[in-house]
Amino acid sequence: MPTRKDAPDLDRLDRIVADARRTREERDQGYRAQALKLYPWICGRCAREFDRGNLHELTVHHKDHNHDNNPPDGSNWELLCLYCHDNEHQRYLEQPGTLAGQRETRPAATHTPFADLAGLLKRDE
Ligand SMILES: [Zn+2]
Ligand SMILES: [Zn+2]
Repeated sequence: MPTRKDAPDLDRLDRIVADARRTREERDQGYRAQALKLYPWICGRCAREFDRGNLHELTVHHKDHNHDNNPPDGSNWELLCLYCHDNEHQRYLEQPGTLAGQRETRPAATHTPFADLAGLLKRDE
């Protein structure tokens, strides 16, 4: 059905929103595809294995929680299933001192998420 009503601005806005969403999705798809190429399709927490059938449940987690930090070597990525990914973010939010605006004075450089991570991985073994 043709829309002969003059609402070009809405159309334009729709297109801008769609474009922005597509750009973000392409970026997400980009690092997801990269991560899936680099790492075996296994959840880094519960070791659940994935194949093409359920691959959409395997997500890319950013170790430093910065989605804009996407080094091509994959050092900031970790493949996690939906559950573990959820838990991971839950845990991050519950950590004292990481709530936004609470400890502004803490220098970011001393933040070592990897030490914490390594400990957790060991514990799971
Ligand atoms: Zn998992
Ligand atoms: Zn994440």
